[in-house]
Amino acid sequence: MTIARNKVQFQKGLSEAEFDELYGTEERCHAELARLRWPDGFECPDCGSPGHCMVKRGVRLLFQCNACRKQTSVKAGTIFASSKLPLRLWFKAMHLVTQSKKGISSIELGRRLGVTQTTAWTMKHKLAQVMIERNGAKRFNGNVQMDDAYIGGERSGKRGRGAPGKTPFVVAVATTEDGKPDQIILRRVIGFRKVAIGKFASTALTGDANVVTDALACFTAVTTAGCTHTQIQTGGGAQAAKTPAFKWVNTVLETSSRLWSEPTGPCTQNTCRDISPNSNIGSTVDTASKQ
Ligand SMILES: [Zn+2]
Repeated sequence: MTIARNKVQFQKGLSEAEFDELYGTEERCHAELARLRWPDGFECPDCGSPGHCMVKRGVRLLFQCNACRKQTSVKAGTIFASSKLPLRLWFKAMHLVTQSKKGISSIELGRRLGVTQTTAWTMKHKLAQVMIERNGAKRFNGNVQMDDAYIGGERSGKRGRGAPGKTPFVVAVATTEDGKPDQIILRRVIGFRKVAIGKFASTALTGDANVVTDALACFTAVTTAGCTHTQIQTGGGAQAAKTPAFKWVNTVLETSSRLWSEPTGPCTQNTCRDISPNSNIGSTVDTASKQ
């Protein structure tokens, strides 16, 4: 179980008051996490038995199996497991990070949560990490949009290919027949060279994939996986964001850079991309979590 299955973080359009109503107490967050983890009811991870009782150990609430007596924390195996922070704060952090349009600084996040900036920074990066690392084993077929992304440094996004201090990523979005995003893969690569792209393609794509990329030369290496490849001249930058074929890939880039970067002051044309009303960022990422 990873946080990826936790829909809380991606509930779009919930006001802060509504969110607090739903997840404002530790008990409610605990119950929600248990529900997400065991949608058909608790099952002992050791013996598979459903019978259980709740026991309290200090502040911790544990499921105790009636059959083998094993005690299980709902947080075990999740990114919350190693954290001493209450679930309530994690839930709130997920809400704040995913709801803010231009990203939330760790100072602001800390202030809103009542924790130090250092703690807020750690939480933010842990959440971003989970979003990026999941779906590692998934292979795509069908229509796939692929692009290069640079995360970190002064500004994240697609501009300034190869700029220093940035981590290169490949982002691939599998779309349904009617062009809706279905799954995403974000994977770190050494650089945008044919070897790296070929390696990515052979682990992330099947021979049935129809891949669309921009004209960056290294992308021709996706055919390593035996798939069909179409390159589109996009003109780069803001222009690329408007090309329909890259709609979802750009939405994903926007989402991940918001999580990774601190806001850098007022929004300018260079730092922000317009997300059309149809680009439901929440469901893009949420859909991606369903395996
Ligand atoms: Zn058991």
